[in-house]
Amino acid sequence: MANRIQKVNTKKSTKKSRVAILTIGNELLSGSTVNSNTSLIGQALAEFGVEPEIQISVPDDGEKISEALENLAGNPGLIISTGGLGPTSDDITKKIFATAFGLRLERDKDTEKKIRGYWAKRRRGKIPPSVFNQADLIVGAQKVDNDVGTAPGFIIRSKAKNIVLLVLPGPPSEAMPMLKKVIKRLLCEAEIETGYCCRVLSSGIAESIIEGITEQIIKGKKNLTPAYCASVEGVRIYLKSKNSDLAKKCATALEKRLGSNLIGLGAENVYEEMILMLKKRKDKISLAESCTGGLIGKRMTDIPGSSDVLDGGIIAYSNSVKT
Ligand code: ATP
Repeated sequence: MANRIQKVNTKKSTKKSRVAILTIGNELLSGSTVNSNTSLIGQALAEFGVEPEIQISVPDDGEKISEALENLAGNPGLIISTGGLGPTSDDITKKIFATAFGLRLERDKDTEKKIRGYWAKRRRGKIPPSVFNQADLIVGAQKVDNDVGTAPGFIIRSKAKNIVLLVLPGPPSEAMPMLKKVIKRLLCEAEIETGYCCRVLSSGIAESIIEGITEQIIKGKKNLTPAYCASVEGVRIYLKSKNSDLAKKCATALEKRLGSNLIGLGAENVYEEMILMLKKRKDKISLAESCTGGLIGKRMTDIPGSSDVLDGGIIAYSNSVKT
């Protein structure tokens, strides 16, 4: 393992600030959990025209976590880690990171109180002592509040290593809102070169055709990089540039060329665009779903503010219910 890390290091001669992702958890390597945090962090970074340079996944194993951290901290920049902040005995990330940076843990009364409140609200009964491990804060690190769960995150700064380490919990529903709260300022602090990113979402048109159209639009324009991301909901096209006017101008040209294949500029997915459109028109929607089993309703209600436009829906699956 150590040899492999050294090989990676020798290959990398430049010491420009970079973003690295460290995902921690046995379940990520055993395959029982898909590592969606890497993809979600990548998407959050793409909004700033930034691409992470390296990603490492390790199990909940002290030695492996330390080794990975040592490797990543050999380069200046921002390291984003997820996982291992929870209440179970295998959640050791905090201890390992604190030791690596010469810091110590201290029980925080406010976080302890928050955990008691969380348990009381959910009537979970007697709190196992290990749950309070989540109230141990790293002294010298900045706490990042977790508005969804009980494990706070941390920002550890090392001037000596020129490193900013953002430590987030594993569940994506907790980690992503926390990341979004701090990402902009941490990219700046870690001196990561950012750019402007325009997002265009299309549907009913092949990615390769979109690429052809985009290439025509950006031909001869320097410092503008396109990226394509196809999914069942359509193709997302990112136009990244340091020059925001140029990226916006090209996105508008692409919008015109895509015509009826355009879902929207800036929307995350078709559901978000639909909600925006309905709000603009002061309209409402009701759903009648069959074989989708309520999927459209689920996707819409996942988006904050959907209650302004969505009245409700009926899932009628069997023919008798439909009748
Ligand atoms: P918890 O407080 O729930 O214990 P934690 O910070 O300790 O959170 P883990 O124990 O590593 O995090 O993971 C908790 C759960 O979060 C996992 O079972 C998994 O479902 C999810 N999870 C963890 N890491 C990832 C990841 N990289 N991508 C997607 N889901 C993840």
